[in-house]
Amino acid sequence: MISTIDFPRPKKEVVTVLAKEYVTKDVIRIRLSLTSAATFLPGQHFSIVIKPGLVRSYSISSLPGEMYYETYADIKPGGPGSIYLQVLEEGDDVTIISPLGRFVYNSSTKPLYLIATGVGITPLNSMFNSELKNSMSGRLITMLFGLRDETHIFLDDSFVRHDKAFGNVSYDLCLSRPLGTLERDENFFEGRVTDWLKLKEIEQDAEFYICGGQAMINDVKEVLLGKGIQTDAIYYEQFF
Ligand SMILES: Cc1cc2nc3c(=O)[nH]c(=O)nc-3n(C[C@H](O)[C@H](O)[C@H](O)COP(=O)(O)OP(=O)(O)OC[C@H]3O[C@@H](n4cnc5c(N)ncnc54)[C@H](O)[C@@H]3O)c2cc1C
Repeated sequence: MISTIDFPRPKKEVVTVLAKEYVTKDVIRIRLSLTSAATFLPGQHFSIVIKPGLVRSYSISSLPGEMYYETYADIKPGGPGSIYLQVLEEGDDVTIISPLGRFVYNSSTKPLYLIATGVGITPLNSMFNSELKNSMSGRLITMLFGLRDETHIFLDDSFVRHDKAFGNVSYDLCLSRPLGTLERDENFFEGRVTDWLKLKEIEQDAEFYICGGQAMINDVKEVLLGKGIQTDAIYYEQFF
């Protein structure tokens, strides 16, 4: 259970921006180089010290053991975190505190649902790749990634590839207002992640990890509870 997990001790360090790339109009993929191999539990995050007394949290999308942290940051909110990341350049130093947070997943054989909207996919990407890399359980993994339309898509091709390569993985991109430009029928659902969950049959013994904004998390929880899922099988991280 989560309470018995040994959480790595957080530390403050100065790291360097290795890469920065816009993956959509508003979402930046940022890679920060570390001085030693990353020690964290998939689902955890780091805090960037923007100035003394002002921090913003960003989840780790990459895997433990790598010499870097990768994250996906939405700069649309436009506050101090967004402005800081917008002007950041490759080679710049950044002060971070990590690893932080208790949103980590249980290794078990129960079906695993990873449900995100927008940049909420960031910690779930780490959980997803960690489960596929390290677990021999072959547990069923259902990944639901909710976005508004095709112009907001990122990371999707990696999930499609994994769906094709692993028999235990099922992935659907859920577009709430598709423009009709997605050239595929598979791995695609027209509607919100909540619509998907309402329509489909869900294993009663599954575990659910949800990440995104408060409204989406509440809506997903309501659907799951309505389908008879117990509260203690639902874990979530609220970004805003
Ligand atoms: C544990 C944790 C992990 C997080 N991980 C990530 C991550 O991996 N990637 C990421 O982009 N953000 C992440 N966030 C959110 C991030 O910390 C900042 O809140 C966000 O970048 C906005 O910061 P800001 O200073 O630009 O705006 P703020 O001044 O903090 O916020 C401006 C307004 O935007 C709202 N807001 C914040 N984020 C969003 C959003 N994504 N969409 C819509 N409205 C929003 C806020 O509620 C507020 O009303 C995480 C937050 C937490 C608590």
